[in-house]
Amino acid sequence: MKKPIEPPDRLKKLPPYLFAEIDRIKRELIAQGKDVIDLGVGDPDLPTPSFIIEALSEAAKNPANHRYALDQGMPELRRAIAAWYEKRFHVRLDPDKEILPLIGSKEGIGHVPLALVNPGDVVLVPDPGYPVYKSAAWFAGGEPYLLPLLEENNYLVDFDSIDKEILARAKMMFLNYPNNPTSACASKEFFAKAIKMANEHGFFICHDAAYTEIAFDNFEPLSFLQVDGAKEIGIEFHSLSKTFNMTGWRIGFACGNAQILQLLAKVKSNLDSGIFQAIQWAGIKALSQGIEEAKKNSKIYERRRDLLVNGLNSMGWKIPKPKATFYVWAPVPSGSTSQEFASRLLKEANLVVTPGNGFGPNGEGYFRLSLTIKEERITEALKRIKQLHGR
Ligand SMILES: *Cc1c(COP(=O)(O)O)cnc(C)c1O
Repeated sequence: MKKPIEPPDRLKKLPPYLFAEIDRIKRELIAQGKDVIDLGVGDPDLPTPSFIIEALSEAAKNPANHRYALDQGMPELRRAIAAWYEKRFHVRLDPDKEILPLIGSKEGIGHVPLALVNPGDVVLVPDPGYPVYKSAAWFAGGEPYLLPLLEENNYLVDFDSIDKEILARAKMMFLNYPNNPTSACASKEFFAKAIKMANEHGFFICHDAAYTEIAFDNFEPLSFLQVDGAKEIGIEFHSLSKTFNMTGWRIGFACGNAQILQLLAKVKSNLDSGIFQAIQWAGIKALSQGIEEAKKNSKIYERRRDLLVNGLNSMGWKIPKPKATFYVWAPVPSGSTSQEFASRLLKEANLVVTPGNGFGPNGEGYFRLSLTIKEERITEALKRIKQLHGR
């Protein structure tokens, strides 16, 4: 018999996959023919707009696009990103130095600690948060330090509560607004405070802006780079995934500080060989002509948000309507943990939700619902929650 392979410490350190049990029960229920409603996934249900697919399909026919792409992305793509950025955020970026295309923003987020962190350096990570921040820090030998996002602070980082010794050892900080999973949004003042802290204590900021284009009630989420001094100490990650329903395509970008981007590009040049050029052409099309489409998407999510939040609030929840992202973050009923409540919803109502503790210890006591299902399914989900609640 073969001996099992002993995983290296960096893999052993990863937290257990908390959704494994839920995934297993979900598969079982579906196999039994149950009508499972999945409010768990953070992946748009709507298709990629057809004009973007056309652009891919045209570009895929051209042999010039079949070869290795440039590591730093096509100049045309970087120029399209700069044009979109200036139009959307009124921030000028140098397409040659201040923009780095990525194979999805997760790729860049996962690699950026390798570009900035020495073993033992502290990486400040929001909690609850996108799990990749923490694993990326570990993989680079960094020490993740969790920054609690609390309801009483509107899920903004409370910079003054961070230990001075930790700040002295911090090399970088991840931030993410509009936030997954809490859907909180940041103000200019908040980002200004973050920049002040970074300057005082000598760390870099990597802001994950995956959800700036999914916003409601005419609200326009900020770019971190709109705030004075941001470009001196940080970069921002953007993604075409959620904005244009392109999660499977794998295209995003980092922008901001040229030196940080150069270091990240150096890591990447040793690990990947760029984005398939046909996808880059499709990305150019999306950024230059897809803005209206993205706004229509937000309208669809907005109606779903109203339906879901009004429905939950009519049962006694008191959830404020999120201004951005396609997530609703809600407290679990008192007396149960996140995991218990999610299991109960799944087993007794065949509803999948994401237990908040899967995003970190400060997610305990909450659950996340995604607005990536049709209105009639949301109505059905609410009916089932109501029945369960009444029991
Ligand atoms: C979805 C998501 C990403 C990853 O997006 P890709 O560009 O598809 O890799 C990054 N950050 C957050 C917070 C997300 O929710």
